[in-house]
Amino acid sequence: MFKKNVLKNYYPALLLFFGLSLFTFFTYYELNNALEARTEKLFEQRVSRVHEELHNRITDYIQILKGCQALFYASTEVNNKMWKTYVENLNLSENYPGIQAVAFAAMINKANIPRLEAQIKASGFPNFKVNSTFENKQLTPIIYIEPFTGRNLRAFGFDMYSETNRRAAMDRAMLSGQPSITSKVTLVQETNRNIQPGFLLYLPVYRNPESVKTVSDRKENIIGFVYNPFRSYDFMNAILRSYSDLNIYIYNGKIAKDESLLYSSEQKTTKMAHKRKLLSDNIISIAGTQWRVIASPTETFGSSIERREPILALLLGLAITFLMSLISISIIKNKSRALEELMLSKEIEKKKDEFIGIAAHELKTPLTSINAYTQLLARAELKENEKKLLYKTSTQIKKLSLLISDLLDVSKINAGALRFNTNEFKLSELISESIESVSHMYKSHQFVLSSTVPNVQLKGDKLRLEQAITNLLVNAVKYSPSADNVYLNVTQQPSMVSIEIRDEGIGISEKDRNRIFEKFYRAEDLSPYLSGLGMGLYIANQIVTRHKGMITVSSVPEKGSIFSILLPTDEEQTVS
Ligand code: ADP
Repeated sequence: MFKKNVLKNYYPALLLFFGLSLFTFFTYYELNNALEARTEKLFEQRVSRVHEELHNRITDYIQILKGCQALFYASTEVNNKMWKTYVENLNLSENYPGIQAVAFAAMINKANIPRLEAQIKASGFPNFKVNSTFENKQLTPIIYIEPFTGRNLRAFGFDMYSETNRRAAMDRAMLSGQPSITSKVTLVQETNRNIQPGFLLYLPVYRNPESVKTVSDRKENIIGFVYNPFRSYDFMNAILRSYSDLNIYIYNGKIAKDESLLYSSEQKTTKMAHKRKLLSDNIISIAGTQWRVIASPTETFGSSIERREPILALLLGLAITFLMSLISISIIKNKSRALEELMLSKEIEKKKDEFIGIAAHELKTPLTSINAYTQLLARAELKENEKKLLYKTSTQIKKLSLLISDLLDVSKINAGALRFNTNEFKLSELISESIESVSHMYKSHQFVLSSTVPNVQLKGDKLRLEQAITNLLVNAVKYSPSADNVYLNVTQQPSMVSIEIRDEGIGISEKDRNRIFEKFYRAEDLSPYLSGLGMGLYIANQIVTRHKGMITVSSVPEKGSIFSILLPTDEEQTVS
């Protein structure tokens, strides 16, 4: 029951709440979709920039190696000194961050190793020694390496051909004449600490390069390789520094597995890393090798304001929804309280009307008896002063009984029980009888009839109409205490008669004029000596309108008032 009432009263607030919530969630959903689409596009652009950067950087290094190659082709002999000068001039650490070294490995027959060692030792490196397994006929020891410091010293003399991955890349470079990158290796430069994966980029150097055309020419004329070793984290970090909004994994080859991982921007295993909603997975071919590049956006990807847009819209929308719902609940609450108050005041009004009816009824019976006794007393032999007192008593009794019958009439009107006895009568009788009954009670004023009353027959309740007219006459007397006359002007107009009662009294303000026909209404600034209950005009108006007529009023304060009763004279006219 309670639930039902709450639903009934508060359904507009509920409707508003659900409507606004729905709208808010819809907006959130749409904004999220738009954000996802924008993020996806931006992500694609960023990833393709990463691919480009990788290509560009490797191309840069190939260019460096081509320079080194040209050094061999342009000079009759290259030695450690020339190599040092050349590489120093490249200004590697400044211009090419991430590069570990620029070096040259000579292709040399196993039999010629002692001669080579002697030659290098003689050129200022007394400790030079070829470091190899000596399993192959051909060896490729590193004989020039710059910068000739730190980790790089460990590589000096190392035979790269003795390691399979390096050898494969070198052979590829030799046979194709093109740059070639190894698969994942550990550089000999690595110490025991902070070991990184690495790779090397080779470019072959031939004897008589202009006459080297075929594969067998290349095989026969190879004199060595210029190359760059790279520690892959140093290399990638230098390139990807401005891509911290991406998680990037680079694998050597086509298969993504931990063992082939060259670089990852975060510390996660391959298994964990690639279960993301937005992922880019590409294989790029680069200097004869393939790298698999897998990227995903980090938590901070995209503009932070844009990222917060949907959730802000959601929060704002929900806040507005709650606020609007609270406001509407409070409006409904106030409204229903006002409604309850109105119903309560109507109930009180009804009880008051009932009480007036009962009280008037109860007063009427003893008053009728008192009236009868005074009439009996009037027949007795009384002294002159006793007669005067009795006359005064009966006048007061008349006033009291008029008041009681007014109260009874109001209660009847409220109950819709005011009945009329309809008959035909003459207008002149109505007027003369009304004047007579008032002039009996009020000797202070003269009732002046301006002209003869038209000879018109009316139909209706003569006594009730007389009650209405006498009420207007009594008011005219009561509210013009300093005047001597009350004027009556009865005229016939097309299909109606007008009974005009004019006084020269206190008049009525415009504000009061609009309300004097209301039940129990009295003018606001009335003198306390002018007693009354505000029932007369209410009853008179009810009587006249029930006869299909009307009462109008015009007044000038301090000058006087004119009340006019207009009654229809039509044959058809009946009392409703
Ligand atoms: P009551 O006279 O008992 O107050 P009525 O219903 O007859 O009640 O009149 C209502 C009010 O209208 C009066 O209280 C008075 O303020 C105003 N009124 C009525 N007739 C006149 C009049 N002739 N002159 C001035 N005021 C009047």
